[in-house]
Amino acid sequence: MPSQTNGSATHSANIAANIQQINTRIDELCHQYHRDPADIRLLAVSKTKPAEDIRSAFNAGQHCFGENYLQEALQKIRALHDLPIEWHFIGAIQSNKTRELAENFAWVHSVDRLKIARRLSEQRAESMPALNICLQVNISEETSKAGLMLNELTGLVAEVVQLPNISLRGLMAIPAKADTLSAQRATFAKIRQALKTLQKTQPALDTLSMGMSNDMEAAIAEGSTILRIGTAIFGARNGT
Ligand SMILES: *Cc1c(COP(=O)(O)O)cnc(C)c1O
Repeated sequence: MPSQTNGSATHSANIAANIQQINTRIDELCHQYHRDPADIRLLAVSKTKPAEDIRSAFNAGQHCFGENYLQEALQKIRALHDLPIEWHFIGAIQSNKTRELAENFAWVHSVDRLKIARRLSEQRAESMPALNICLQVNISEETSKAGLMLNELTGLVAEVVQLPNISLRGLMAIPAKADTLSAQRATFAKIRQALKTLQKTQPALDTLSMGMSNDMEAAIAEGSTILRIGTAIFGARNGT
């Protein structure tokens, strides 16, 4: 192509290089921690980034994208409808916005109450595949953070698995910042244990959505199956 020297071509090449680097890093960490790379899905978190960045990432082989803000996500989904992207919603959910989630996403990671799960199931078209959901756990027990407490999980799971048009896949968490690998691992280990306990009655649960740009190693070490990576792919975000 003739014009590879302009800024946007460079930016696009950077995104492609970042994706390649992260996939290489995931492979290395899988080797180190005796994980199968086929069990880990890389979710590119594109919040605040323009649709063109997502297109660049897609062209570099990245097919799953995560968004936090519904209106922003819907605009990008429309702009990129020509691409077979798998869209994941990972942000806070308002109960009056569940219909758009049910209609436009393949996964919702941030379900934390029965009312939301019920609405998603009711509003998911039966002609579509079941909507994959994760229950978000407030693992660091911060009062400011979204998510359920661990002791609320069993009861909610029993109800959510009854709902027809959603498929409960597992747990999601955003831990409080921790600086050392061992501190990060200790928190992720609690989520892994919680899933293991649930699997005794719900063996189909197979997903741990955990690990971001700064704690990817700890997450892989503790069994993550979906890494949600933003900054390391798209660069720093302004104002978030
Ligand atoms: C923004 C965000 C991420 C990505 O975080 P990075 O540190 O940029 O990798 C992952 N998960 C959730 C829920 C987020 O909001």
